[in-house]
Amino acid sequence: MANAYDVVVIGAGTGGYVAAIRAAQLGKKVAVVEKQKALGGTCLIWGCIPTKALLEHAHAFKVMQNAKEWGVTLPAGNLAIDMNQVQGRKDKIVTGLTKGIEYLFKKNKIDWIKGTARIPAPGKVEVFEGDQQSLDAKEIIVATGSSPRSVPGIDIDHQRIITSDEAIALTEAPKSLIIMGSGAVGVEFASIYRRFGSEVTIIELLPRLVPVEDEAVSAELEKSFKKQGIKSLTGTKVTKATASAKGVSIEAQTPDGKTQTISADLLLVATGRGPVTTGLGLEQLGVAMERGYIKVDPLFRTSVPGISAIGDVITLGGPHPQLAHVSSMEGIIAAERIAGQEVQPINYDHVPGCTYCDPEIGSVGLTEAEAKKRGFEVRTGQFPFGVLGRAKMAGETEGFVKIVADTKYDEVLGVHMIGPRSTELVAEAVLALRLECTVEELIRTIHAHPTFSEAVGEASHAVHGAAIHM
Ligand SMILES: Cc1cc2nc3c(=O)[nH]c(=O)nc-3n(C[C@H](O)[C@H](O)[C@H](O)COP(=O)(O)OP(=O)(O)OC[C@H]3O[C@@H](n4cnc5c(N)ncnc54)[C@H](O)[C@@H]3O)c2cc1C
Repeated sequence: MANAYDVVVIGAGTGGYVAAIRAAQLGKKVAVVEKQKALGGTCLIWGCIPTKALLEHAHAFKVMQNAKEWGVTLPAGNLAIDMNQVQGRKDKIVTGLTKGIEYLFKKNKIDWIKGTARIPAPGKVEVFEGDQQSLDAKEIIVATGSSPRSVPGIDIDHQRIITSDEAIALTEAPKSLIIMGSGAVGVEFASIYRRFGSEVTIIELLPRLVPVEDEAVSAELEKSFKKQGIKSLTGTKVTKATASAKGVSIEAQTPDGKTQTISADLLLVATGRGPVTTGLGLEQLGVAMERGYIKVDPLFRTSVPGISAIGDVITLGGPHPQLAHVSSMEGIIAAERIAGQEVQPINYDHVPGCTYCDPEIGSVGLTEAEAKKRGFEVRTGQFPFGVLGRAKMAGETEGFVKIVADTKYDEVLGVHMIGPRSTELVAEAVLALRLECTVEELIRTIHAHPTFSEAVGEASHAVHGAAIHM
């Protein structure tokens, strides 16, 4: 039967498209139903790729602003950023990558069915918008992802009160921008638009920026943001936002209980994302849900046999990282299990978190506070990038690498870094945790000179109280 598949995946984000490719590699006949005009989901179209493209522009602009230091003579006059060129280049990168997934689908003989899907019964997928048809599926993987979410009292109008979906597409840098939320999305846009010339105020409800990171990292970022002219209001709650033709005005309750009114051109709401399940028909099938997320077991089975779920749309009973690389690994594991391979659950303590603000943040494992909470006898070592020759050459001397270790067995429990190339350097730390590495093993690992990675080696020496260059 033409419409009968071993696996039908709903959603072609980084979870769904990777699951589809892995299932096809293992000999399954696979279809993916995707309602957007392009493949790749949030990450490629509105998330990781466009934001990092904008951040690369911001970095290029920073280098040119410091042209004199680099010995480059620019013609007299004010340096300016051409947002049309920025957007054009970003769009070209996005299109190239989404087309790349189309190519991979063809290569792996995966059918892309363009439309919106629902599940009328286990083993059936109905495409009710777009290329309408009914599919038989031995196994269904739901990978419908997430979408921006606001907080009570703040109505997103997509003009003055916007989400990241609009913030990636601005053709003019706003004169002033308020950002609600200082998670990865909030601080990345703060870095982008501050560099492009906007007056940026970032407001965070919790007492510090990037609250999931180690406290030392939060403090370093706040210090750097201050130097760059980004205003951080922590412990502050936005209670009201009013949009007008001219801009937006917000009321914010500061930690001392006072109410402050702040006006700006735009308010970016970056307070998190919620699951996309509307219209799938999961409740009618009896699929167990929790706060709107699909409940799965550690191998991504829902409560209904034959239906799995992965990525931003799931919960394993606690907070689940909404990250592209997490969704992809979940997709691989789900596909391999469906194909009959033996698979192991993910250790979510080993998921790297990368935040591409300026300075960058890369972290994996337990923060110092979390390690203490779990009862470890903790010792730490910290090494500043500023001491490294490589960092001085690059003119990127902010930040540090901090290692959190267990005193008893010398095991590395967490590595937290803020500073140049941290989003790349964290890869070594992820492997260290995966291999249950000791600090001594990290010390004996030779780090090439002159590199940024020497900061990881030196931080491990520092845990044993013996950093060489400090
Ligand atoms: C601004 C921003 C920056 C980010 N940066 C990073 C980053 O740097 N690194 C990182 O790891 N993560 C980043 N993320 C998070 C990352 O994008 C997500 O974690 C990831 O995309 C989740 O993948 P997913 O496959 O679960 O869902 P999604 O990517 O959301 O894909 C779901 C897909 O399902 C489709 N769909 C939904 N319902 C249906 C239906 N009924 N029928 C057919 N199709 C349907 C949607 O159209 C969509 O294409 C960022 C997110 C944002 C918003």
